[in-house]
Amino acid sequence: FGDGYSNEEITFSLVRIGTIFMVLQFLISLFRPVPYGRYTEESPRFLTLFNINNRLAWIVQECPAFFIPLVFAVQARKELCLPQWILLSAFMLHYFQRSFIYPLLMRSNNASPFLSTLAAVFFCSHNGILQSHTIIYTVNYCETELMSSWFIGGLALFAFGFVVNIDADHRLRLLRSSKESAKGGKSGYKIPHGGLFRFVSAANYFGEICEWAGYAIAARNIAALYFAAFSLVFLGMRGLHHHRFYQTKFKEYPRNRKAVIPFIL
Ligand code: NDP
Repeated sequence: FGDGYSNEEITFSLVRIGTIFMVLQFLISLFRPVPYGRYTEESPRFLTLFNINNRLAWIVQECPAFFIPLVFAVQARKELCLPQWILLSAFMLHYFQRSFIYPLLMRSNNASPFLSTLAAVFFCSHNGILQSHTIIYTVNYCETELMSSWFIGGLALFAFGFVVNIDADHRLRLLRSSKESAKGGKSGYKIPHGGLFRFVSAANYFGEICEWAGYAIAARNIAALYFAAFSLVFLGMRGLHHHRFYQTKFKEYPRNRKAVIPFIL
């Protein structure tokens, strides 16, 4: 980054850019769901003019959030202390799973609109830089008490969310047989059951929201707080659309199931 800017200024500028992106996503989601997955076909033509293979799209769009912190960490490796390693590792663990394991396991051949993929590439690159820069250069984690209840509690919530997210994504995968996936994946949607789906329609989103809330509690900086807020807004709005989708499609849909947050929303 250019000389003349303090690390705090860089973090705040990046948070400002991210917040504008978050507000835009929120406003768009008020009117229609972001066009990918089950909403691709019903989206306006101009948004879905160029579609790409969705496995490739997930790898390309998510991997900057794995590689960018990796490069930051390698460059600064001699100065990093344990809390920084732990926070960066948690972030990279999530994005390694999302970039390289999740796309290979998914059972959907719904094409991904190029514009949505481009927006996700922007988000993951921007967020990868923001989180890495803030953890390594902006906050002095070397004086952080490793055993503080914030740090441990936050990491525990992150781990809980990670497990819920992976379990829910797995349950969704099981709703489609490999034969259906080979045919094109859009053989229809079924009612998800088990795990946190007992309480919410978007258990995978609930898991991810918990992850980044936990991360923000452990990291306690403005960048992590922004990311937790972004996940809540983006996945919360999309989860509400999913909930409406299920209620419209299935007359027998469980009435006591909430959309994203158990017992609340
Ligand atoms: P969805 O729940 O929309 O879809 C996940 C996968 O399961 C897709 O392959 C989808 O197929 C399939 N699927 C979903 N519901 C059903 C059903 N009822 N019956 C059969 N198949 C189903 O999740 P997203 O694609 O939006 O997100 C995937 C992951 O990425 C999630 O874990 C999410 O938390 C994470 N994510 C995180 C974001 C963040 O801001 N941190 C932003 C976006 C995603 P199809 O593609 O055909 O719909």
